[in-house]
Amino acid sequence: MSGKKERKIRIVDHRHCRICGRAIPPDKELCSAECEQVRARVEARQKRMRNMIMIMYVVIFLVFFLILIIGGRSS
Ligand SMILES: [Zn+2]
Repeated sequence: MSGKKERKIRIVDHRHCRICGRAIPPDKELCSAECEQVRARVEARQKRMRNMIMIMYVVIFLVFFLILIIGGRSS
C-alpha cells in the first residue's frame, strides 16, 4: 500500500484584516466598516500624537536656543 498522497496545502492569496486579523480578499485592507472606523480612529490618534511630538521638538529646540542665547549673553 503505497498511497503517497501529494498534499499540497495551497494558501489562497489573501490578507488579514489589520484590525481584527480575519482573513480577507487581497484587494481589501479591512474586513468591515466597523474595522474601518477603528482604523480611522487609530490613525487620527497617531496623527495627533505625531503632531504633539513635532510641537514638543520645536518647543525643546526653542528652549535650547533661548538657553544658548541667554547663556551667551551672561558670559
Ligand atoms: Zn476586521
